[in-house]
Amino acid sequence: MNDHHMTDPGRTIEMDLGADGHTDRFLKIVNHVSRQNISMCWHCWTCGGGCPFSQHMDLLPNQVIRLIQMGRGEDALRCNTIWLCVGCHTCSSQCPNSIDVAAVMDALRQLAIRDGITAPEMDIFRFHKYIYESIERHGRLNKLAAMVQFKVGSGRLFSDLQSGLKMITRGKLEILPQKVADRDELNRIFTHYDRRRRSFDAHE
Ligand code: SF4
Ligand code: SF4
Repeated sequence: MNDHHMTDPGRTIEMDLGADGHTDRFLKIVNHVSRQNISMCWHCWTCGGGCPFSQHMDLLPNQVIRLIQMGRGEDALRCNTIWLCVGCHTCSSQCPNSIDVAAVMDALRQLAIRDGITAPEMDIFRFHKYIYESIERHGRLNKLAAMVQFKVGSGRLFSDLQSGLKMITRGKLEILPQKVADRDELNRIFTHYDRRRRSFDAHE
């Protein structure tokens, strides 16, 4: 078995290259959900070099990719990197192998939510969930409802109350949700997404 170590101050992951029977399965699932070919990553570190949030991440983006290649799904789904990623696509635009790293991070968030894996950054996890639910329901983000859900979920109901009220009086936060006119189209998008989810469940 070959053991390598990727080192960076504060971050070390064991590069265990001894593949086990589960390695392919997790890699295939993430490839399918993200529509990427993660095996193409040659670990040039370009993605981490350009990432504006890398200094706060417990693993660099390519280290997360390495965990996927190694089939270490649980480790990949438990790191804070996938929740700190804001999907800015800086990494995706710079990858010499055209891997859309932001799409990989998004796929990992979906898988973590599906598997009920607790995020190390629970506030970001909740924020992601409420925004997703608002868009699924209305086709638009209802900021006020998402904010209230977030406050209740995090137990910090009255923090930022003053600025929230100011935003409402200045018309920055709408009280009633805006809804897309074409509900059928919205339902088709989410049905398509559910079908994709079922198809990646079939990989297991
Ligand atoms: S930039 Fe692309 S090839 Fe380089 S480490 Fe990141 S994902 Fe891998
Ligand atoms: S998309 Fe995510 S991982 Fe990529 S550069 Fe932006 S924040 Fe970093």
